[in-house]
Amino acid sequence: MKKFLPLFMLLALVTLFSSCTETKVTRQSFAFDTVLNITADEKYNEEISEAFRMCQGYEKVFSRTNKESELYKINNKVSVLPSKEIKEVLEFSLDMSKKTDGAFDVTVAPLVDLWDVNKRTAPPSSEEIEKAKENVGYENISSAPFSLGKASLDMGAVAKGYIADRLVDYFKEKGADDVIIDLGGNVALVGEHSVGIRNPKKPDEVFAVIHLKDKSAVTSGAYQRYFDYEGERYHHIIDPRTGYPSDGDILSVTVVSPSSMVADALSTSIYILGEDALSLCEEFPHTDAIIIRKDLNTATTKGFAEKYSLAYK
Ligand code: ADP
Ligand code: MG
Repeated sequence: MKKFLPLFMLLALVTLFSSCTETKVTRQSFAFDTVLNITADEKYNEEISEAFRMCQGYEKVFSRTNKESELYKINNKVSVLPSKEIKEVLEFSLDMSKKTDGAFDVTVAPLVDLWDVNKRTAPPSSEEIEKAKENVGYENISSAPFSLGKASLDMGAVAKGYIADRLVDYFKEKGADDVIIDLGGNVALVGEHSVGIRNPKKPDEVFAVIHLKDKSAVTSGAYQRYFDYEGERYHHIIDPRTGYPSDGDILSVTVVSPSSMVADALSTSIYILGEDALSLCEEFPHTDAIIIRKDLNTATTKGFAEKYSLAYK
C-alpha cells in the first residue's frame, strides 16, 4: 500500500497543477460596427460561439441601419410593437434623459444621421440642424403605452452595454467565473482583471490601468469616430440641446459600474455634460468615473484611485 501513496500524491498534484493553468482562449467576431473579443477558459469554447451568435441576434434587434432589424422596423413604422429588449432599453434611456436634463436623448437619431461623421467632410448648415432638431425630444415619446410620434430611436449609446450585461448573465449561468467580454471597448468582466484606459491622444497607447472585479468599464471619447474641418473636430456624440457635437474640455470619460448599460449611457452623458456631471454616478450603485481632459490631466469621482488601484502608465 505504501508503494502507491507517492503515485496517488503525484496524481493529485497534477490535477491541482492543471486546474491552475486552465488554458484561456480569446476569440474575435464582428457586430455593432465594431470588433468583439471574448476571453474565457477553453472549456467554454462552445459558450463563446453561442455568445457571438447572441450578438448577431441582438444586431437584428438594435441596429438602426439593418433593414431586417426590429429598431429599423419600429422607426420606419413597419412594426409598432416593441420587444421586451427594446422596451427595457427604452425605459432605461428615458430615465437617463430625465437625470441628464436631455443631454442623453434616445431620440437623437435625426441629428446623428445629419452629422453622419463617417461620411461627412464639412459640417451641415444651421438650417439643416434646426430642421433635424424638430423631431428630437424624449418628452415627445412614451414607453407605456408605446408611442413614438414623429421621433425615431437611436440606441447606439446604450445597446452595447445592455448586450454586455446579457452576455455576463449567460456566462455566469454556465458556471464561468473568469470571462472578459469586450464589445469594441465596452468591457464587461466576470471575475477580476486589470483593464487599460487608452490614451485619447494616442489611442494605441495605454494611459492608465485600473483593477476591476465583476464590473464593466465603458469609455466615450471623440478619438475614433469624427472628421476635422477648418481646425475643428466634429465627432459622433451630439448635444441634442444645441444640435452640434458636444464641445468641452474632455477627451474621454470611462465609467465603471456593475451594470454595463449604466456605464455605457453614463459615459456618453458625462462626455456631453462635462466634469460637473461626475456627480451623476452617485445615482447608481457602485458606479464611478474618470475623465481625461484635453491637457491629459484627470478628474475622478471620490476615492476612484484607491477603489480601483489606478496606475498611470
Ligand atoms: P460608442 O458608440 O463609440 O461606443 P457612445 O456609447 O458614447 O460611443 O455612443 C455614441 C453613439 O450614441 C452615437 O454614435 C449615436 O448613435 C448615439 N448618440 C449620440 N449622441 C447621443 C446623445 N446625446 N444621447 C444618446 N445617444 C447619442
Ligand atoms: Mg455610451
